Amino acid sequence: MTESARFTADEERALRTAVQQGERPDCPRCGVPMTQRPIGGGSFGLGYHRQREWLLCPQCRRSAIFDVRRGTRL
Ligand SMILES: [Zn+2]
Repeated sequence: MTESARFTADEERALRTAVQQGERPDCPRCGVPMTQRPIGGGSFGLGYHRQREWLLCPQCRRSAIFDVRRGTRL
């Protein structure tokens, strides 16, 4: 049980890209669907729409958190 297990920067980038495209990504290590939960945002009236997504792999327990801006195409 180590808490230092992390995705690599490349893996996190791939996960973020998938989420921004509205997909539910699989864990790049395990190939199992990741648990996806929105964090905060939306109901605080802060004047900007920023949402954080938390992805957690139920198998290897690696997780990644990143900002998702919905409705914005770069
Ligand atoms: Zn995994």
